[in-house]
Amino acid sequence: MKAYTCEYCEGRVRRQIVDEDFRYRGELILIQEVPVGVCDRCGSKYYPAQVLKKMQEIARNRDQIEDRIIVPVARFTEKLKTRSTTKSFEPLTPAQIRRLRGEKPREEFAREIGVSPQTLYRWELGKSKPTGLGKTALETYLSRKASNQ
Ligand SMILES: [Zn+2]
Repeated sequence: MKAYTCEYCEGRVRRQIVDEDFRYRGELILIQEVPVGVCDRCGSKYYPAQVLKKMQEIARNRDQIEDRIIVPVARFTEKLKTRSTTKSFEPLTPAQIRRLRGEKPREEFAREIGVSPQTLYRWELGKSKPTGLGKTALETYLSRKASNQ
């Protein structure tokens, strides 16, 4: 492969041997030592047709699978992260919320959680349950408390 000019910038595309995270029919396959073109300026990758074809063959035939690795999986979005932590918290009963507050004045504890004293009062009396933003605030408080221990 000769060096050629990048389609996106004026950089030079040069042959490099890289490890590729290749997705094939919903599966992730790490293919090592793939010869690709890489722009020396913007980093865009270029896959010659025969290289792409070979990667698909490797993924399809599976006779060149040498190893399996466990990869960490994370989620970028804050919203979904909050949703996943929600599962680990059982809804607190009024008595549990009252116990959580302990000897602290209601105003102070409400401020620590980030809800109004009225909201906290209603939770403690069982007149309302932590929902929406209040629930999120309470869960954040609990996870902060748990991580400090
Ligand atoms: Zn480029």
